[in-house]
This record gives sequence, structure tokens and C-alpha cells, in this order.
Amino acid sequence: MLEHDVLVIGAGLAGMRAAIAARAGGATTAIISKVHPVRSHSNAAQGGINAALTDRGDEWEDHAYDTVKGSDYLGDQDAIEVMCKAAGQALIDMEHFGVTFNRDDEGRLGTRAFGGQRRARTFFVGDFTGQALLHVMFEQLIKSGVRRYEEWFVSSLIIEDGQVCGVMALEVRTGQVYAIRAKTVIFCTGGFGRVFEPSTNALICTGDGTALAYNAGAELMDMEMVQYHPTTLAGSGVLISEAARGEGAYLLDKDGNRFMEKYAPNMMELASRDVVSRAEQTEINAGNGVDGCVYLDCRHLGEALIMEKLSQIREIGIDLVGCDMIKEPIPIRPGMHYAMGGIRTNVDGQTNLPGVYAAGECACVSVHGGNRLGANSLLDTIVFGERSGNHAAEASRSVDYIEFNVDQAVSNEEKRIQAFLDRPQNGDRIASVRLGMGESMNRNLAVYRNEEGMKKTLVELKELEKRYETVPIENKGKVFNTDLIFGLELGFMLDCATPIAMSALDRQDSRGAQARTDYPNRDDENWMKHLVIKKGDSGPELSYAPVSITQWTPEERKY
Ligand SMILES: Cc1cc2nc3c(=O)[nH]c(=O)nc-3n(C[C@H](O)[C@H](O)[C@H](O)COP(=O)(O)OP(=O)(O)OC[C@H]3O[C@@H](n4cnc5c(N)ncnc54)[C@H](O)[C@@H]3O)c2cc1C
Repeated sequence: MLEHDVLVIGAGLAGMRAAIAARAGGATTAIISKVHPVRSHSNAAQGGINAALTDRGDEWEDHAYDTVKGSDYLGDQDAIEVMCKAAGQALIDMEHFGVTFNRDDEGRLGTRAFGGQRRARTFFVGDFTGQALLHVMFEQLIKSGVRRYEEWFVSSLIIEDGQVCGVMALEVRTGQVYAIRAKTVIFCTGGFGRVFEPSTNALICTGDGTALAYNAGAELMDMEMVQYHPTTLAGSGVLISEAARGEGAYLLDKDGNRFMEKYAPNMMELASRDVVSRAEQTEINAGNGVDGCVYLDCRHLGEALIMEKLSQIREIGIDLVGCDMIKEPIPIRPGMHYAMGGIRTNVDGQTNLPGVYAAGECACVSVHGGNRLGANSLLDTIVFGERSGNHAAEASRSVDYIEFNVDQAVSNEEKRIQAFLDRPQNGDRIASVRLGMGESMNRNLAVYRNEEGMKKTLVELKELEKRYETVPIENKGKVFNTDLIFGLELGFMLDCATPIAMSALDRQDSRGAQARTDYPNRDDENWMKHLVIKKGDSGPELSYAPVSITQWTPEERKY
């Protein structure tokens, strides 16, 4: 029998940090990931990780204020305080784990400026910070003695009498189904970027954990808050890091004007992401762009700086649009990037389901509120990953494994998967349903939204769910059946899409990433509250939760 005190689902930064903490806390711990851990999306993070270090004259309160303001006052200030206070130590821990952060001229850890922050407090490794962090974290994971299930796909959560007792998982290599028992389960399954098309997210970011938790009765929060990043590449939508603007790049319209002067005269290109994305979209809609894009101009930064600090995005530009940023501006536009919302948790990662935790992008603590500051997500994964691991280890000391009929559970899951494989071959293909969903979301839940569009998407999602019921799985094999995995993932994505659209439709104000043309103002009187969505007996149920305000009174947001 496979059983562990703490079972972490997901081996990105949040998952590995949680597992290392749980193991250090004395719990028998395992981590399970549908891809090899270092292929998790955390690996793609480019720009850096935020922390206020006092010996640099920076204070956690300043970081917290920037985060609160960036969130458009929807972030919970008590949780933001926890994150920003812990940031300095978390960064030093990563350095001691072995991350070779870039250094400044004096040999100290170097920083770069990032959007929405009044100070340069983003620590980085070139423009591949996530990769550097993730590989070092993986080394620590190996050292820690955590059991790893690599390339295992979690397909269901097992709950008996309201208490989690484990998960069902498919070993991708063999196609065999297993039950894994656990006293506590921590979801660290990352974002749901692929619900949108295009997205900067890896193809594996399909909201599996968010959907599994939601279907089991977990509350989701702030789901309407979907971040569109200002600089995603024309065509593919691949990310061009904010680090470029952090190092001083300009945004230009088709005539070469720095249009951010009109929208954020002080912070210019380094205003918060929602502000910059709206500015770009407004210019594009007004006909001041080229082919649905504006330009990112890095030429004045010079070849030496670009080669030292932005070499990866330069290569991406050359490979994907044939544009060398040393010599010419590159075409970019706002694109889906990050989920501020997710599984609702407290600062220790606990959800409303006993024994179920969440951390990282799949969770909503809520430290990002309406808009996440660049480089606060890596921080979030590490701080709340560790806290969840600590708490789960402690909690599993006082509970026993819950008995359940393992053979029955395995046989039920096998039958469910077999029925999926046995479907007739005449339905729509997975790719066509996925594209229909992604394009509908990107049409009506992007930078600007309105009631008519969102209602349309909700109708389209209903139709897509119907079509999903008959998508065929063409590969019938057992070994590495990625067709089957894509099919299961599509179901999870559809489960995430409706709560996003429903929450966005319900919120009748504009705040952070949600900009409604039919409700263009922020309405604190009626909408300074979180939207919570939960699966009820007759479908999704919306309710509201207060925003925690400690020391920063909401005010108008200007950059
Ligand atoms: C291109 C890009 C650049 C970014 N740059 C930055 C940056 O510079 N700074 C910053 O702060 N943030 C950045 N972000 C955001 C940040 O990288 C992510 O929010 C963060 O890394 C998410 O980490 P995570 O541990 O929550 O999830 P992930 O790293 O996405 O890991 C999810 C894990 O869950 C596993 N999993 C999912 N479903 C299943 C399942 N069904 N069964 C088993 N395993 C499963 C996956 O295998 C994976 O191991 C960037 C994001 C992108 C997309």
C-alpha cells in the first residue's frame, strides 16, 4: 500500500518547497508530478523574485504597500504582511540552498526594477530565474528523502465523510491506476493558463488541482482576476519578461511614441501590469498598433546588457518572430499570464476541506488580489509552500489514516478511464473543443470585459461541455497515453472556465485585472469584497468574503 502522512501534488516551486518542509517537520512525505519536476512551469519564470532586504534600506512594509496597491486593494493585507515579512529570509534560504543570483558591482546580491514597485527589489538570475530556483530546489528535494512519483497523473481526490484520505493516480509510463493514501494532501498544481488561448503558460498548466478541489467541495476565490501580461510575443503569445522594462525598455506605438506617458506619467512602462495592459489594449483598439500589437524597444539598452541579462528573451524573439531586440523593436501585446484566483486558503494553506491544503499559483491566499506584482509569485510559492508543508506535517501527527476500500477505488477509477477510452470515435476532437474554449475566454474575458460578451462565453462553455462528453480518445494504449491525459486535462480546464466567467460576470466593478466597459469604475462601497465560488448540489454557488485591511486604507490608484 502506498501511504504517506503528507502527499504533495505538484513538483513546481510550491510543491517542492512544501515537501521539503513537511519532511523536515518529521512527516513521511511524498510528492507526485505529472511531469518530471524540473519541467514544471516554475521553470519558465524569467524575471525574478521580490524581497525587501533591510540592509539595502528597503523595508517589508514598503513591499507590502506596493503589493496592496498593486492588488487594487483586493489583496488581504494580513496575508500580504505575512508574505512580505518572510520574503527576506526566504530569499536568503534560496541563496543558501545554492541559487547563484546575479550580483551587483560590489558583489552583493543584485536587484532589478519591476513593475508597480517604487524600489528595485527583484532578485534574479539572468532572465531564467525560475529555472535556477527550480533546479536547486530539486537537488534539495533529492537530499531530503521525500518519495517522488515522477510522471504520475492525479485523476481524482478521495474524500470519505468529509475528510481527505488520498488520491487516485495514473502512472503515465504504464497506464496503471493506483490509490495513494494520505493523511493530508497539499495541492501545488500551478495555474490554469491554458484555459485561455493564447497564454504564456506551459501546455501542462491546465488547472487540474483547482478543478479536483472544486469538484470535491473546496471554495475558489478571486477567480475573475486573470492577469494579462503586457508583453507577450506576437503570434505564439510566449512571454517576454517584464525584466526588459525593468532594465529600461520602452513601449512604443506604431509612430514610435512612448504612449505610457498618457497613462502612468510617473512610473511609465513600470506601472502595474493591469495598467500597462489596458494602456496597450486601448492604443491597439484606437488603431495605434500594428497587427494587433505594439512594440517593445530595447535597442538603447545596448548589446552588452541584453546579452548579460536578457539573453533568453532575445533568443525567443529571434526564433519565433525573426526579430533581434538588439537591432529592432519587437511586436508584443497583452496576453493571458497568471491566475490571481484559485483554491481559497488561509496563510497556512488550509482550505475549507479538512486535511486539504493548497499553495502556489493554484491557491488564493489572497496576496495578489486583483493584480499580482511581477516577481511576487515565485515568492508566494516559496513562502506559502513552506508554511503549508509545516502545517500539514504538524496536523498529520494528530490524525490517523482514514480507511477506504482501496480495491474498490482502483476498480472504479479503472472503469471510469476505460469508459473514456471506449467512447465512439465520431465526436469532436480534443483540440477543437480546447481551442473553442480558449478562444472564447480570450475574446470575452481578456483585458476588457462586458456583460454581453461574458454571457456569450457562458453559453459557449455549456455547449463545449456537451461536446466534451463525446470527445474520443484516439490512442487506446496503456504506455504514455498522452491523448488520454490531454482528454482528462480538458475536463479540468472546462471545470475552471465556468467559475472564472461566472465570477467575472457577477463582479459589477472594475478593479485590478477586471476592467468592465459597462462598469468602468472601482466601486468600493459595493465591491470591496472577495467573490467565493463553490460547487453546490445544483451547480456553482457564489458568495462574498470580506477583504482584510490592516494598515493601508484604500485610495485611488495612480502610477
Ligand atoms: C513564462 C512565465 C514566466 C514567469 N515569470 C515569473 C517571474 O519572473 N517571477 C514570478 O514571481 N513569477 C513568474 N511567473 C509565475 C510563476 O512562475 C508561477 O506562478 C509559479 O512558478 C507557479 O509555481 P507552482 O509551484 O504553483 O506551480 P508549477 O510550477 O506550475 O507546478 C505545477 C506542478 O503541478 C503538477 N501537476 C499539475 N497537475 C497535476 C496532476 N493532475 N497530477 C500530478 N501532477 C500535477 C505539475 O506536474 C507541476 O509539477 C511566470 C510564469 C510564466 C508562465
